[in-house]
Amino acid sequence: MQQIGPAVANKLGDKFTERQSLMEQQNETILPDSGRTATSVAEVVSSGLCIGCGLCEAVTIGRVPMHMTEYGGLRPSSVNKFTKQEEDKILAACPGIIAESRPDNAPHTDLIWGSYFSMNYGWAGDAERRFASSSGGVLTALGCHLLKTKKTNFILHVGPDPDMPMRSRWVMSRTAEEVQRNAGSRYGPVAPLAGLENALQREEPFAIIAKPCDLGAVHRLSKVDDRVDRVCVARLTLVCGGQSRLGKSTALLNEFGVLESELTLFRYRGFGNPGRTRVETRDGRAFETTYAEFWKEEAGWDYETRCKFCPDALGEASDIAATDVWPGANPTKEDAGFNGVICRTQAGKELLDGAVAGDDLVLGDSITPRQFDSFQPNQVRRKLVLRARFQGLAQANMPMIETVGLRLDKLAEALDAHHRQEETSATIQRALAGRFSEPLRS
Ligand SMILES: Cc1cc2nc3c(=O)[nH]c(=O)nc-3n(C[C@H](O)[C@H](O)[C@H](O)COP(=O)(O)OP(=O)(O)OC[C@H]3O[C@@H](n4cnc5c(N)ncnc54)[C@H](O)[C@@H]3O)c2cc1C
Ligand code: SF4
Ligand code: SF4
Repeated sequence: MQQIGPAVANKLGDKFTERQSLMEQQNETILPDSGRTATSVAEVVSSGLCIGCGLCEAVTIGRVPMHMTEYGGLRPSSVNKFTKQEEDKILAACPGIIAESRPDNAPHTDLIWGSYFSMNYGWAGDAERRFASSSGGVLTALGCHLLKTKKTNFILHVGPDPDMPMRSRWVMSRTAEEVQRNAGSRYGPVAPLAGLENALQREEPFAIIAKPCDLGAVHRLSKVDDRVDRVCVARLTLVCGGQSRLGKSTALLNEFGVLESELTLFRYRGFGNPGRTRVETRDGRAFETTYAEFWKEEAGWDYETRCKFCPDALGEASDIAATDVWPGANPTKEDAGFNGVICRTQAGKELLDGAVAGDDLVLGDSITPRQFDSFQPNQVRRKLVLRARFQGLAQANMPMIETVGLRLDKLAEALDAHHRQEETSATIQRALAGRFSEPLRS
């Protein structure tokens, strides 16, 4: 099978970086021929397109909480307890239905990476913050800066559940110490938007740090809930390879011979870049593994179905997206901690400028889209094949995700007909074999 990746993207990136052509695509809604989206939360869940963002819990003000399924994903605990009004609101924003970019008249547009004001290396100004955070601590530094300058009263993000530290939950951090305590990538299931209604109800300015799919839902929700744009004043994200099911973390505990009930710490990375995955137990034992060991075999990544069809893992609905910057996506050694920083909006630009002026953030050299391709070959690959995969879902009569402004048609032109057909056929086969289907709880 021919490799699909940066080389192909290079050609296309050059060909399609003309801003006008891409801006036209920004307004296009894409559903492949004969495609359709799910018409209920039940269908989103049963077709595997729920990522467990938590919006269902927020919209029902906790009446339909998220629960962990036996497959290790977070899903709404019931799919038939919504009022019509609630379900309409959820379906308007659900990442299993729609993904939409949030263009802000940015000066640059790239076929793969979307609209942006700037792309740079970056890291936290504070050395301890940089060391303890996931990569270079950019997201934590920006969260701390927003609180320090009183631009926001709190940060809605996620952190370890203190009672079950392998699991993650939404948190509201009101101090820099709290933001720092919840730094670090959490690779298992988490529902940041379960806290969204709680945040909106306060009518206080806040920032959210969450995955691209979560922020896509926040952006869509803003069209039906005017509180969102009024109080959610900064939206920060991480470029996202995928969310593993809980089994990925449990497998590591099994390797160490540790029970989940014994845990006091489960840190996926950080304390170095990438840092080691570390668990600690109540009786004082500690176990570690390297990032490379943790992610050794792609077959064991155990990503959610929605991730395989993710139209925007690059944060096109955010103000700022932070990435890793390892060549070929593989760290070869521990380093001082560096992020790629993609600034997407005017608000993001002002935040970056303020954070640099306040010594909370350091911005380094600029990064080109083609350099980003080489840091993120899997992201490029997924972008190019997505349209063909959606076609497969359509042909298998499965629902897909509607996209707005995400250039899927242009991206699909990067694949030759043979590759497109291969992706479409493989998707049809998997769909018909029930690989994307999930059982429902009533
Ligand atoms: C599931 C996942 C997949 C990723 N895949 C890639 C990838 O393919 N390529 C790449 O370049 N980078 C990826 N990253 C991002 C990378 O690991 C760093 O998080 C990112 O570079 C930000 O680094 P930082 O030092 O600024 O983060 P920090 O300063 O440590 O801040 C991280 C922030 O993200 C929040 N957070 C952590 N985990 C989650 C989660 N699961 N859902 C919502 N919010 C969360 C935390 O609450 C914290 O506020 C991924 C991260 C996650 C969580
Ligand atoms: S993705 Fe979010 S909004 Fe959609 S069904 Fe799942 S929890 Fe609800
Ligand atoms: S890959 Fe996409 S769907 Fe999966 S967690 Fe990341 S942003 Fe969400």
